[in-house]
Amino acid sequence: MTVTTDCPKRCPATDISVLIVGAGVAGLMAALECWRNGHEVRIIERSPEQVTTGDSFTIGPSAIRALNHWPKMVEENEKIAHNPTISFHSVNGTRATAPKHIDYTQGQDSKNVPERVHRHWRPQYHDMLSKQLSTVGINVEYGHKAVEYFEDGPTGRGGIVLENGDRIDADVIVAADGIGSRSTRATMGREIQARPSGEAMYRTAFPVEIAMADPVVRERFPVVEGNEGPIELWIGEQVRFYIGRTADTISWILSHKDHADATESWSQNSDLEEVLKLTATIPDWPEVADRLIRLTPKDRLLHFRVMWRDPQPSWVSPAGRIVQIGDAAHTYVPESGNGATQAFEDAVSLATCLRMAGKTNEVPWALKIHNRLRFVRVSCLQKLGLINQKGYSRAPSKSDQTPKALRYLMAEWIWRHNPETYAEENYNKVLHHLQQGGPFQDTNIPRGHVYRDWTIDEILGQHERGEEVELDGDWM
Ligand SMILES: Cc1cc2nc3c(=O)[nH]c(=O)nc-3n(C[C@H](O)[C@H](O)[C@H](O)COP(=O)(O)OP(=O)(O)OC[C@H]3O[C@@H](n4cnc5c(N)ncnc54)[C@H](O)[C@@H]3O)c2cc1C
Repeated sequence: MTVTTDCPKRCPATDISVLIVGAGVAGLMAALECWRNGHEVRIIERSPEQVTTGDSFTIGPSAIRALNHWPKMVEENEKIAHNPTISFHSVNGTRATAPKHIDYTQGQDSKNVPERVHRHWRPQYHDMLSKQLSTVGINVEYGHKAVEYFEDGPTGRGGIVLENGDRIDADVIVAADGIGSRSTRATMGREIQARPSGEAMYRTAFPVEIAMADPVVRERFPVVEGNEGPIELWIGEQVRFYIGRTADTISWILSHKDHADATESWSQNSDLEEVLKLTATIPDWPEVADRLIRLTPKDRLLHFRVMWRDPQPSWVSPAGRIVQIGDAAHTYVPESGNGATQAFEDAVSLATCLRMAGKTNEVPWALKIHNRLRFVRVSCLQKLGLINQKGYSRAPSKSDQTPKALRYLMAEWIWRHNPETYAEENYNKVLHHLQQGGPFQDTNIPRGHVYRDWTIDEILGQHERGEEVELDGDWM
């Protein structure tokens, strides 16, 4: 295998074989970090080739920091990331607040507050990870769909069955197959219940020159340069309209009350006429927005249904050979701003725990420790997403231009976390905690917060009764 000089130094081999199912952000980063940590890696993906659809997401500092081991990606990341400003508007497009960069919060004892937000077009970010993976000699095996996960306690192996009936096994099976993962039967013994949240989104991203060809659209959404990335958020009673653009790409997202046509899928195309039928019902909706919508390439429009799932504490199968990461373990509503970041953190934490375990017979403990290190943090962020879903129903006032929902996401406890050092420092403490019941205090969550299990029904009930959801501890 040829490894180029741009790659990090690899840790000593552990002889732990890892099979990753799904080449999304979680799977690709898990493959890279497992390789760097000395494990043997194989990664499969159901799509026949690399997927180039999707619009944008934010990659938080905890994930950006993880790139530091990978010099080529540090460089590439700075090239492809944009630094967003956000302005709020009424639903007719009239600006309520001036465009503003969003700042990370300086906490009580924090140094090195990140200087900027990194927002990414998913296809570019995905491509960066895929290319880096090729440089370490690992290629995604496309066209391989897992239909079943299994494990064999006595042999200490886990495995999957592919659609064509072939079986592949390894010391660890990483289910990074996204929403609706096939692995929950193996981890939990049942499917996870997902419920419509009542919200759906028409969403797209396409080359900016297509939009700029229309002079009216170009005048309203002028060309931007460098790494600028203005985002406008138009807020109305029935809908929210998000327009984000950079020097090469433009995206719009129309969030609206759910209806049956929407699906929780990142690959099912939708019809522009349906969007225009909806916008025709919105009082004061401006013509320029419809012009932008009409320019959308037909194969680029998704109608994504936002679903809710209660937090699932267990991501590991009973014999400890299968582990879920990313959306397969925990889904987020878009307002949590954390889907990709937490997927990244999972990947780093898992690869580190397997290195700490060091050998194949310790794998089940490594997976359980990883799960324990991550679950409470992830669950807190899922809760924040639900709270924030309510937070964008009105444009902020002139006196307080950053809505509370946005400030929550910039908190120190979120950006300061380093999943690699956290796993290194806490691995043995959690092992002791799990084996002998010793104490363990999470320190990757809001300071002072005492975690207790919660459900979506509980939070919705509080929303309905007009009560504030109680957030004990320092969440901001
Ligand atoms: C095509 C696509 C576009 C997206 N666009 C956006 C976006 O614009 N904005 C946003 O916020 N989020 C988007 N997401 C979701 C976002 O990437 C995730 O929420 C987040 O990054 C967590 O990543 P993940 O790797 O856990 O899941 P995902 O990114 O969903 O990746 C899961 C991968 O597993 C593969 N897979 C699924 N089932 C199987 C199987 N049975 N066997 C083998 N492989 C399987 C999928 O094809 C996919 O490549 C998109 C996801 C996809 C797949």
